[in-house]
Amino acid sequence: MKKFLPQIYVKDVYHIPYKKLKENKITHLLFDLDNTIVPIHEKDPGEKFKKLLTELKQLGFSVFVFSNNPYNRIETFGKENDLSVITSARKPWKGKYKKFLKEQNISANQCAMIGDQLLTDIFGGNRMGMMTILVDPLAEKDLWITKWNRKIEKRIKKKYKKLVEGDYFE
Ligand SMILES: [Mg+2]
Repeated sequence: MKKFLPQIYVKDVYHIPYKKLKENKITHLLFDLDNTIVPIHEKDPGEKFKKLLTELKQLGFSVFVFSNNPYNRIETFGKENDLSVITSARKPWKGKYKKFLKEQNISANQCAMIGDQLLTDIFGGNRMGMMTILVDPLAEKDLWITKWNRKIEKRIKKKYKKLVEGDYFE
């Protein structure tokens, strides 16, 4: 069950202690897209995210979108926001993570996986030995598969005393 527990749980991507990540030798940030950076079906993350992105790059992080979504939408998002993207990531499976680490020539403990879902983002990152950071989903709306995942999430959250919605920890 520990595999579903994030190391950090914050409200959103703006509340992540990035300097602390830096101190922990994290060099690569892997962001989930839907409901983590933008509400699902939305394209523009807004100025606030663009500003954050600039700051993260200034801090020296390599920033990526690591999404289970297929190519087109994510690719467009990456181009518009000057971000490298990994599409059809198949989180929580290890394949694309492993490929990513190999291509970047880094090890898993240099990465932080940031996302809104326990079953994909957090479970996937934990399996790889990455730092995992959970954020609250930006919108209520989800894909049908996510709706199903959310039901399981609720059960997992019940089992963890540490993981209560809105009860953040770093
Ligand atoms: Mg998501």
